[in-house]
Amino acid sequence: MYEGSGWWRGEPEIINGAIRLKKNTHINFYQFFTGVTEEADPIMPHRALIRVQTVKDAVDFVGKYGLLGLWKCKPYAFSEVNLKINFIIDEDRRGEMDFYFQWQEPISLFMLAVREFRETAEALMLSEPATDDFKATRREALNSLDGWISECHPATTAGFTDFTNFTEFKARPIWHCPSLLHACYLGLWLDLTEGRKLRRCADKYCERLFYADRPNKRFCSEECRNRANRRAHYHRQKDKALSSCITDL
Ligand SMILES: [Zn+2]
Repeated sequence: MYEGSGWWRGEPEIINGAIRLKKNTHINFYQFFTGVTEEADPIMPHRALIRVQTVKDAVDFVGKYGLLGLWKCKPYAFSEVNLKINFIIDEDRRGEMDFYFQWQEPISLFMLAVREFRETAEALMLSEPATDDFKATRREALNSLDGWISECHPATTAGFTDFTNFTEFKARPIWHCPSLLHACYLGLWLDLTEGRKLRRCADKYCERLFYADRPNKRFCSEECRNRANRRAHYHRQKDKALSSCITDL
């Protein structure tokens, strides 16, 4: 298993408070850093993860990118939430040869991991006033991020450029990550160190986090931009109507 550089995804289901891949789903392998594209805008798992807010979002995320691999994450593997629903092996599936299907993650633990990931991203990447509180939060987030990425490491994969010609060997760099969540923290670190900017949508009814691909991008989507423009237009019209009423008085 090329942990970290590649992942498995399939159709998920929620059973007894835990999320897992359906037994008969088609399993799809993808490369974390190069193989994830979604229409025009390439969305990497870590960028999709910061937008997960509801259980439905979580199910969509797992369908697109796979389980987080929380059983390999120290902060969650031994957490109290896990005492009731052990997410290591589903009893019904014990003995199945295919190991993709034996893993499950308590949905409450999944949501907790997502929230902590989003809070780390916010603390590190949003520009906030330099209060002492925020500096402390940022320091804490930095320590947490360093903890996650210290468990990931670069490696080389034995790649052949041409499968009919095994003499032509090409070393390809890959990242080893214990879990998809580790890989998400690594993605966050790469964005942070390469200067990619995380912003909050300027539409006050949205305020979702998004990555700005242009320096002046203020909204997370066309939809939000149009909605905000319509609202601004409405308020201008209302102000105009109001001021003409006042002059009439
Ligand atoms: Zn928005």
